[in-house]
Amino acid sequence: MQRKRLIAANWKMHILPAGSCTPDSVYRTRANVDVWVFPSYMDLHSTQYHGLVTGAQCGRAEDDGAFTGDISMQMIADQRYHAVICGHSERRRYHNETDEMIARQVAAALRTGLIPILCAGETADQHDRGEAEDIVRKQISSVRMDPAVIIAYEPVWAIGTGKTPNPSDVEKMHLFIRSLLPAPEKMRIIYGGSVNGKNAASFFAQPNIDGALVGGSSLKPDEFRSIVEAA
Ligand code: PEP
Repeated sequence: MQRKRLIAANWKMHILPAGSCTPDSVYRTRANVDVWVFPSYMDLHSTQYHGLVTGAQCGRAEDDGAFTGDISMQMIADQRYHAVICGHSERRRYHNETDEMIARQVAAALRTGLIPILCAGETADQHDRGEAEDIVRKQISSVRMDPAVIIAYEPVWAIGTGKTPNPSDVEKMHLFIRSLLPAPEKMRIIYGGSVNGKNAASFFAQPNIDGALVGGSSLKPDEFRSIVEAA
């Protein structure tokens, strides 16, 4: 089955890249490749107003309540955003998000009409101990899976480090992930971790890598353009 490629730009806690909201922005989605942007909460309205397909970097599962500083999936959905990242390793690490919390976030995202991008991936130690598949299986199977979910395989040791796994190893992991999914041929599995304009094509040459979640390189419009063109 032909799955449309997705390139997702995770801008983390950075300001909008130059030119992102202009008519000729490289961050606009294309007919043959989905391009979605994930700005900070402060910039969600700007990117959406300028016609970029916009999602949130995280959201809370509860619809409302006494959770200072948090924003619920319901609030994100009410503003007609498209998607939400769930379980990014930086949320797991700096906000102590557990598999159980992430499972509830994915359920809330689905319930409110958002497309969840569920991140899963092993740390460097887990990788060295040969535990990658076990960790990824646990992270994915703790979520009540739905065909609308997009999986982002993000080995933690590759995020922001410039180190990347071999594309054929990523392909193997994506095949393993696909075997855990309810609609294996239909669901998109994207790769994240130090993707750039030079290495993107080698990942996209693999049949089970359906796109990329891009951090650092998504802040550089020319670099990002090369990634989208490779897709
Ligand atoms: C990420 O944060 O999801 C990511 C993949 O970052 P980078 O591209 O910088 O490794």
